[in-house]
Amino acid sequence: MTAAGLERTLTIIKPDAVAKGFVGQIITRLEQAGFKILAGKLIQMTREEAEGFYIVHRHRPFYGSLCAFMTQGPSMPMVLEAENAIQRLRDLMGATDPAAAAPGTLRKEFASSIEANAVHGSDSPEAAAFEIPYFFSDLEICRR
Ligand code: ATP
Ligand code: MG
Repeated sequence: MTAAGLERTLTIIKPDAVAKGFVGQIITRLEQAGFKILAGKLIQMTREEAEGFYIVHRHRPFYGSLCAFMTQGPSMPMVLEAENAIQRLRDLMGATDPAAAAPGTLRKEFASSIEANAVHGSDSPEAAAFEIPYFFSDLEICRR
């Protein structure tokens, strides 16, 4: 948390959504929902970078496939700020599996499978505290 109850979270527009040309629409939805973008960049993760980012999932059966997917093309990590940003982003994203995602959520609209699910969002303050500096230094994060 920062001053005034504001919270920061990390989102990633994943390689499937970048490849399909959904970057603009997803950013529009984030801004319309009240998130301020404090940082963002287009990157193509190496295998090691993807493995490190998703290290909490290293024992899950989908870990290898997930890390391959995250390296298959450019993705766009961004730092977002809002009141209660972590939970609000999770609500806007919808369920991990787009088939189970509620109408109006980003994954319902833009995702194609449980793996290629368009967006990432930090799932806790502890996760955000790991994930934001994983991609961005303090100097790259704007105060707005
Ligand atoms: P994220 O962490 O990307 O925001 P999430 O918190 O909804 O998504 P997690 O359980 O943390 O879901 O899984 C991380 C990512 O791993 C998912 O977003 C998805 O890309 C992939 N994934 C999760 N479950 C599966 C599965 N059963 N099969 C294939 N890929 C999966
Ligand atoms: Mg997660």
